[in-house]
Amino acid sequence: MLSGVMERSSASRSGSCSRQECFDTAWSDEECADINWDELGFAFVQTDFMYVMKCSLDQKFSTGALNKYGNIELTPSSGVLNYGQGLFEGLKAYRKGEGDGILLFRPEENALRMQIGAERMCMPSPSVDQFIHAVKQTVLANKRWVPPQGKGSLYIRPLLMGSGPVLGLAPAPEYMFLVYASPVGTYFKECLAPIHLVVKDKVHRAIPGGTGGVKAISNYAPVFKAQKQAKSEGFTDVIYLDSIQHKYLEEASSSNLFVVKGNVISTPITMGTILPGITRKSVIEIARDHEYQVEERLVSVEELFDADEVFCTGTAVVVASVGSITYQGQACRIQFKTGDNSVSQQLYKVLTSIQMGQAKDDKNWTVAV
Ligand SMILES: *Cc1c(COP(=O)(O)O)cnc(C)c1O
Repeated sequence: MLSGVMERSSASRSGSCSRQECFDTAWSDEECADINWDELGFAFVQTDFMYVMKCSLDQKFSTGALNKYGNIELTPSSGVLNYGQGLFEGLKAYRKGEGDGILLFRPEENALRMQIGAERMCMPSPSVDQFIHAVKQTVLANKRWVPPQGKGSLYIRPLLMGSGPVLGLAPAPEYMFLVYASPVGTYFKECLAPIHLVVKDKVHRAIPGGTGGVKAISNYAPVFKAQKQAKSEGFTDVIYLDSIQHKYLEEASSSNLFVVKGNVISTPITMGTILPGITRKSVIEIARDHEYQVEERLVSVEELFDADEVFCTGTAVVVASVGSITYQGQACRIQFKTGDNSVSQQLYKVLTSIQMGQAKDDKNWTVAV
């Protein structure tokens, strides 16, 4: 078996094709998807299986099953299509090294966040065990799509939606929990280079009393317009401010914000309008372990002018250094410290080495699949 793999490996040395990666790590043919791992971005790549579990409004989820990845049937009168009754989650599976090991990062946090969101959106939710079981099953069934270490990860997307028919405004009578996965590389086209953000003070992502604090699907399409405009002006993403005073930093479209000044790292406090990121929570803990003073508080946009460094965190972006922020037109393009000695790079390295199983996981954050 091993000699066969090695033979084919040497035969394919000449090209830098994707399959060589697999042979180098001694996987068998069936275990390796035929894609170029070096070209992974954040575009959707279809994988083999998805996990589906259903229940009615007054029931609890009981059993689910793996299905071949494919279209799902929904009644046109479903709650999710008509009233946006839906939630999503996002987490990643990393290949641990050259062997078979695959690690999830704090999946119980995603399960708990989905429960909080489900309560807000009047939906039944899977238990933590059911959620983690479904995620593990999905990863195992799509194992050949987990990129080699260093090339990316398998992004896992759990969905919870009102699938049953409703006409009057009310929670749907039936629900579907679905988990699919796609291999991903870096989120921004800049890869790991610093990103450029623009502050929008007239457009808001979330309002007090709304659903900004949960991953409701209905929070996301409304940011497309601001995001599209920012991209057309050459920016990577948008920073949103609070919707009352238009003064305090909230977050980017799908990642949390941190501002560094000396030994103090500040991040906007989550009070319902900011999504409480699992990466945010983990980075706060790692930074405190490394003797930084971390403050969760109101952070005014003015503080950006005075900052040494700014970075974003999220499962998709991991820890992304911000190279500049533009506020109120081109007038104030703020340059920040980036690169190897930056706080964000230090935190990025510590976090990713835990996620990939390269560092000791003292906090028991990783879960083997
Ligand atoms: C998902 C998300 C984040 C990041 O959360 P993580 O748990 O770190 O992935 C931040 N902001 C928004 C708006 C999000 O949807």
